[in-house]
Amino acid sequence: MTQLVNDCFSLPSEMISAAEALAQIDQAVTRVSDPETCSLSNAENRILAADIHSPRNIPPADNAAVDGYAFSFADYQANPERARVVAGRSAAGRPFLGNSPSDSVVKILTGAVMPEGLDSVAMIEDIRIDGEKIVLPRGLKQGANRRRAGEDIRNGQLLLAMGTYLRPQEIGYLASIGTVSVPVYRQLRVALFSTGDELVNPGDPAFPGSIHDSNRFILAGLFRSFGCLVTDLGILGDEKDIVRLALHSVATDHDLVITSGGVSMGDEDHVKAALEEIGHLNFWRIAIKPGRPLALGQINSTAFVGLPGNPIAAMVCCLKFVRPLILKLSGRNDGPPLTFQAAANFAMTKKPGRTEWLRAKYSATPDSIGSVEKFPTEGSGILSSAVWANGLIELGDEVAQIKEGDLVTFLPFSELMR
Ligand code: AMP
Ligand code: MG
Repeated sequence: MTQLVNDCFSLPSEMISAAEALAQIDQAVTRVSDPETCSLSNAENRILAADIHSPRNIPPADNAAVDGYAFSFADYQANPERARVVAGRSAAGRPFLGNSPSDSVVKILTGAVMPEGLDSVAMIEDIRIDGEKIVLPRGLKQGANRRRAGEDIRNGQLLLAMGTYLRPQEIGYLASIGTVSVPVYRQLRVALFSTGDELVNPGDPAFPGSIHDSNRFILAGLFRSFGCLVTDLGILGDEKDIVRLALHSVATDHDLVITSGGVSMGDEDHVKAALEEIGHLNFWRIAIKPGRPLALGQINSTAFVGLPGNPIAAMVCCLKFVRPLILKLSGRNDGPPLTFQAAANFAMTKKPGRTEWLRAKYSATPDSIGSVEKFPTEGSGILSSAVWANGLIELGDEVAQIKEGDLVTFLPFSELMR
């Protein structure tokens, strides 16, 4: 079994950029999930654990791309105009198995195997009927309307590489070569806690000063969307011993333990204190907004991330830093999520030297550039902003000012929640 190296999240205490933090995560961690076998019908959203080569050509035989008449180009070229006998019929799954005499044609339907000796197809719309015979149109080319064996996939070809995230089209691709089961990486096991004496679960009695725990619901959904198996472990009070016992007990059978709240500097710091007794914890100071220092650590070889308590900060840090960490731990080889440029419909100034993410809504515009607006208030506890938004605007370290109409980078949630 593959494991994280000891104290892989240690880092000098100076402030680093978001890009440096991501590079550091990529470098620090390795895949920890081992391969297992999964039936193809259950393999969607899983990650391939081996290169897959095709054992056959797809399509397996030359076949017709249209409904029409299969003919021999050499015969046609010698005498294009003559009326030809129809020697038989080839349909998908019911090939014509006879021999077609010279200068005859075979009626053929889309997907049907090309009869022996015939290499081209005239479309049914283009032929002329002459009694029992047919006349082919002029100007046909050799190989017209014929799909070649192996034109999609060649026997022996690398079909999908290890680490590929399996979407419906990859499942169909694997089915097309006759795959029954696939090697995939075991799903990452993520244990999730919220911390805070003020938190209650929906349905639990409220008390003065209580609020409902929302982070666990957001985070559990995000981790499931990243393909993880989530163990939802509820709420921990602000007490070091409770937190320590809970973290210790789940570390052995999980790959990653996540908490939210209780890690801000100057807080009661019970998560930090608890973790220091049973593992390592490092506060990464990343030049970002929203987000306090990100707490990254280990309990033995299980990774630990302490997310901020504010729901938006927890969500954004999860999307921007924990998601790449999870992809790496689970062996997934996606490139970075797709982003695109759209015109800001607002103006603002920004502190250079840090990356900021704004909750944003993209709308299409007639000029095809698209426009993005930002949520009017910035507080990182304002959950309505994330419900309103369909993505994030990312303002890089260098940005100091946005004028209305400037192009900004938009990250759709749909790209980040998968
Ligand atoms: P903390 O990081 O624990 O100081 O929390 C920062 C803010 O986030 C406080 O206002 C907390 O009440 C709030 N908060 C912490 N955890 C949660 C949670 N699970 N759900 C909703 N709000 C939370
Ligand atoms: Mg707290």
